[in-house]
Amino acid sequence: DQEKLQQYEKLSVLGELAAGIAHEIRNPITSLKGFLQLIESSTSTNANSSTYTKIMLSEIDRINMIVSELLILGKPKELKIHKQFISEILETVVTLTRTQAILYNIEIHLTIPSDLSQTCVSCDENKLKQVFINIIKNAIEAMKHEGAINVKVALDNGFVVINIIDQGEGIPKEKLLKLGRQFFSTKENGTGLGLMISSTIIEEHGGKIHIESEEGKGTTVKIMLPISK
Ligand code: ADP
Ligand code: MG
Repeated sequence: DQEKLQQYEKLSVLGELAAGIAHEIRNPITSLKGFLQLIESSTSTNANSSTYTKIMLSEIDRINMIVSELLILGKPKELKIHKQFISEILETVVTLTRTQAILYNIEIHLTIPSDLSQTCVSCDENKLKQVFINIIKNAIEAMKHEGAINVKVALDNGFVVINIIDQGEGIPKEKLLKLGRQFFSTKENGTGLGLMISSTIIEEHGGKIHIESEEGKGTTVKIMLPISK
């Protein structure tokens, strides 16, 4: 049946991921081991070992990030579905991400037409928030210095449509095709898991995610979720 198929699909996605994950995690662990050996054997100064510890801490952060993103993907059964106002979810998310955006001189505008203030979706609130945070973080990272991110909400045929529009560097056509694949990232510290996990979560909610982009102009991520009556 439907649920079994979905479960099977998730398991196979996880299976495909396993090889990549092992590789991704082995790299920082190998480097951690190397630095520990250096510290152990060295007669070096404190200055040196503080450089080592900085690198080690950032490698540990990277392992943590990969593992925590994977944990979410690996626990699809734990969806806790409740009826929530989409406006409240977006307001929380925008408040959270603004604290990061301010550091880059980036404004985030949220526009919800007043007749949508009571619109609800059946969702796992935390997972949905995580999706929006992922996508707004990507928008911030794509804009770098300044600009505005517009989050606009509309209705379409029984769906609530959330557009996250940035004025960032955009995505070249050939890269657009690779988005949402495991570990596809153009960032130095990226995991490339954000979009993959986001689309899994949106699909679990019966929704769709669609990305349009123009190089040099910006990107629009469109998320459609079924309205809860
Ligand atoms: P990560 O952010 O860790 O790189 P994601 O899955 O969130 O992983 O995104 C994958 C890649 O998609 C990014 O590295 C970036 O190249 C591209 N991308 C995603 N969102 C945007 C955006 N809003 N503007 C430009 N590029 C984007
Ligand atoms: Mg990301």
